[in-house]
Amino acid sequence: MLLARLGYSVIVREKQTFPRAHAGESLPPSILPILGRLGVREAVEGAGFLRPRGAHVLWSGDSPEWAGTSGDQPGFQVDRARFDQILLDAAIAAGARLLPAASADSIGAEARMAVDASGRRRVMSPRAEAFAPETLAVYAYWRQPEGMSPETLVEAGTHHWYWGAPLPDGTFNATVFVSPIEFAGRSAGELYGAKLRESILMGPHCLERVSPILVCDATPRVCSAPLVTANRIMAGESAFSIDPLSSQGVMAAMRSGIHAAAAVHTILAHADCALAAEFIESRARATVRSHARLAARGYRDSGRESAFWRERSSCRWPAVEAGPIPGLDSSVTLAEGVALRGVPFLAGDRIVAVDGIAGGSLEEPMVELGGHSVASLLRPVANRPCSARDLLEIWSRRMPARDAVRVFEHLWKAGVLATSRCA
Ligand SMILES: Cc1cc2nc3c(=O)[nH]c(=O)nc-3n(C[C@H](O)[C@H](O)[C@H](O)COP(=O)(O)OP(=O)(O)OC[C@H]3O[C@@H](n4cnc5c(N)ncnc54)[C@H](O)[C@@H]3O)c2cc1C
Repeated sequence: MLLARLGYSVIVREKQTFPRAHAGESLPPSILPILGRLGVREAVEGAGFLRPRGAHVLWSGDSPEWAGTSGDQPGFQVDRARFDQILLDAAIAAGARLLPAASADSIGAEARMAVDASGRRRVMSPRAEAFAPETLAVYAYWRQPEGMSPETLVEAGTHHWYWGAPLPDGTFNATVFVSPIEFAGRSAGELYGAKLRESILMGPHCLERVSPILVCDATPRVCSAPLVTANRIMAGESAFSIDPLSSQGVMAAMRSGIHAAAAVHTILAHADCALAAEFIESRARATVRSHARLAARGYRDSGRESAFWRERSSCRWPAVEAGPIPGLDSSVTLAEGVALRGVPFLAGDRIVAVDGIAGGSLEEPMVELGGHSVASLLRPVANRPCSARDLLEIWSRRMPARDAVRVFEHLWKAGVLATSRCA
């Protein structure tokens, strides 16, 4: 859609005939700005999807708790067949040409650039690394009971967890997330039935099944190959997939698509493949790691101790522990590895290099903080240490003193600043 709007000749090769069913129906309200950016917000809001204001969550205690969405706007329970059709229609309206039921397995040299948006299939680079324990989703659709409210249901089980969502077509998706070892010696039907019988929240809504029982991979994975080369780019779940616990997979995939479009434009119109690649890789790394930490915290919060929960409660990228904020007389400098340099930045439809910082323990470059250029804030400590007091004094000429303290604390906790022995 975005590339067609920029005037490129775009061909969409989609293997399935749309509209087609797809798992992943709960969307948080934070997807609204992305829908707005793509110009499809009105169409999605007007499509008659359900609008939940939160979820009933039975996670660590004995009774369900209410987890409301932040802000005024409700999220969505969408029918993915229609939601994805709205996106495809918008791409076609923008000028993209759809080759119906066309596989992308054999993209030839006819395209200057190929975007692999084939989801977990990753047709152009199938190898991916799991960054959390292997997980399968076992799910089916049930006839929704009369008068069911639109909220998501989330529940922790002994060696698994449940996600349930009423959908706009009058069905209810009940999903169980399990480790593959649970399948040993039993069929998907036996496993699913046994798990649903243990559930407190799902049971009352699972009386009449209207679909087969389906199984799919739900393991968080990241593509093993470079995400960007001079003639192909991985986007959406082809690049990385996050733990479904956050219900943010669609949002992350769409944001990745927006970034991919900017990267393609940067490569084709501005011949800067290295800048585009650094942007895409660093954004993917930051998203994967922050979601991995979020999911691990979610599993830990359940307080459960079976292997299923224990294995998912730790993250291979723990948050940086910055230590106590240094006093005013401490001498501070840039932390090891952090450098002031030109870093990639998304500016409208393309990626440009702007002054910023990167390296060290930063997962992605940093350009602005509270409306101030981070590079210009850090210039006083770029080549020599400076006392915290002097740095705050310099910053206080540009912003209120309390904001300067907040900026200092933020940069310290992010691992950008370190103390130095000599002032
Ligand atoms: C069980 C489960 C529950 C989930 N729940 C949620 C949720 O509640 N909320 C949420 O936001 N996310 C959820 N997700 C994640 C969400 O579904 C994905 O993040 C999202 O669909 C990824 O979008 P995508 O466009 O990258 O890939 P997909 O949506 O998978 O689209 C890929 C497209 O590529 C096509 N394709 C595949 N191979 C080829 C080929 N060879 N040639 C041509 N076309 C091809 C497919 O037909 C498909 O249309 C869930 C995921 C799972 C597994």
